Amino acid sequence: MKPRRAWLLLGFAALGALALFVSRSDANPETIRRVVPGVWFREGDLDQGHCNNVIIEMKDYLIVVDANYPSGARATMADVKRLSNKPVKYVFDTHHHGDHVYGNVLWTQEGATTLAFQAVGQEMKRLEPARWLAAAKTRPDVAELHRDAPEPPKQDIAQEEMVLNDGARKVEFRHFGWAHTRGDGFVYLPKEGVLCTGDAVVNGPHNNLADANIANWPTVLRAADKLKPKYVLPGHGARGGRELIAGQDQFLSELYKAVKAGVDAGKSVEELQASISLPPAVSPWVGDASLKRQVKDTYDEIKQGKPRGDIPQ
Ligand SMILES: [Zn+2]
Repeated sequence: MKPRRAWLLLGFAALGALALFVSRSDANPETIRRVVPGVWFREGDLDQGHCNNVIIEMKDYLIVVDANYPSGARATMADVKRLSNKPVKYVFDTHHHGDHVYGNVLWTQEGATTLAFQAVGQEMKRLEPARWLAAAKTRPDVAELHRDAPEPPKQDIAQEEMVLNDGARKVEFRHFGWAHTRGDGFVYLPKEGVLCTGDAVVNGPHNNLADANIANWPTVLRAADKLKPKYVLPGHGARGGRELIAGQDQFLSELYKAVKAGVDAGKSVEELQASISLPPAVSPWVGDASLKRQVKDTYDEIKQGKPRGDIPQ
């Protein structure tokens, strides 16, 4: 742990920000650890906006889950080279958000094929390059690529499932529907019981609902949970087991229920933001600033009768 982080933790503890303290105290940012033989989890630094990465070793090549931001991609590439001499053949984008896809171009320059479920590329067509251009104003790693737009995944997966099996390992790419984003992809290793969730599951107060289908999200989580994974590797925050899926489900379900009750009682969004209280069980997923945004997103979805991601930003 870096000294700066230790002070941060003390600061958070002193402020009584229990949820942040709990999630950050378990954090190992920018470190790579083995989950099972040939599978590694790299926890991204939230302060740099990095997502988590997973590296999967096949007989002759590697698969990387998520491209990350450009700076995260470079850091992950350096770590990957220390792990194995095998080339990265595939980089799977779990969804279209910048912290998961803006590094795409760096991976393809190194010879990898980026791939994602079809709706990832479609969402990028719909929402980019506006977000890329905005990110370039605040992120030097995006600006220094001198591009007008992000690079979309090179290969689309049109079905709901794609399997890679080279005899050494079986890897399933699964789509269970619209949760965090329209194109949400999971990666599942059935033999090892490893599930990579992207941001459909996060560990900590990192939920972004702006492109979500909030009402449908728990349904997606329940489908993923049916796989009964031993290891759950989230898009942000520390890894865990099935309790992460259950906690994420409970957080979203309780949020939706509380906002729906408020809407039914005729409350304004401001009243709801000021008064909402969720059960202590979901506190690891609750952050003060993020909860206000999440209440607004859920309120808009319910009031307008369509998924938050279908409402103009
Ligand atoms: Zn995301």
